[in-house]
Amino acid sequence: MAATILIVEDESAVARGLEYALTQEGYTVTLARTGEDGLQAAVNQAPDLVILDVRLPGMDGFEVLRRLRADGAKMPVLFLTARDDEVDKVIGLELGADDYLTKPFGLRELMSRIKALLRRAYGDLADAAGGRVIRHRDLLIDLERRRVSRGQRRISLTATEFEILRHLATRPGRVYTRRELLDLIRDYEALDQDEKTINVHVSHLREKLEDDPADPVFILTVRGVGYQFAER
Ligand code: CA
Repeated sequence: MAATILIVEDESAVARGLEYALTQEGYTVTLARTGEDGLQAAVNQAPDLVILDVRLPGMDGFEVLRRLRADGAKMPVLFLTARDDEVDKVIGLELGADDYLTKPFGLRELMSRIKALLRRAYGDLADAAGGRVIRHRDLLIDLERRRVSRGQRRISLTATEFEILRHLATRPGRVYTRRELLDLIRDYEALDQDEKTINVHVSHLREKLEDDPADPVFILTVRGVGYQFAER
């Protein structure tokens, strides 16, 4: 799964240019046009990195970053500034920006900054095609570290629950029968052979992951067949 980048930029030409270039590099890109929308997208989607224009209509980039950090978001943020005096502000305010570029900038420069920021923040996950972290909404599944979280909340799963989640989430939308899941996790726990065991694990998973286990948004039931992880 590609690294995700949120671009908060009100100038259409710049935003579209960035979107195109980053998509070409293999990143998954979302756009926001205002500070308010950008903040909301950053909180809801938990992108791997945010490119944040300083001058935005309404809430400016500084305020977006301040609120984002106050909310506990730790993803790297690259500021885009129009003038050198804004650069002083970026550095001086110690808002928690990780880097900045002054417009106009070259795409090659931007790409190398982004790669460096992602590498610093996520280590091996730096590549656009990294694929060791799965996210859906605010759910984050770190396959390497076998960690699961929603927003700032760490979720503790049993080995079997993690394996079920891993299999489902790796292929969103793919429907797994209970038999398939049972076969996939058999190595991880001495299970009895009853397919209903899967129902119990899924029910535990939902209690841990979902806001409302009776109305799940991550692990969906496909009636008469099995389970699937929600598609984006
Ligand atoms: Ca602007």
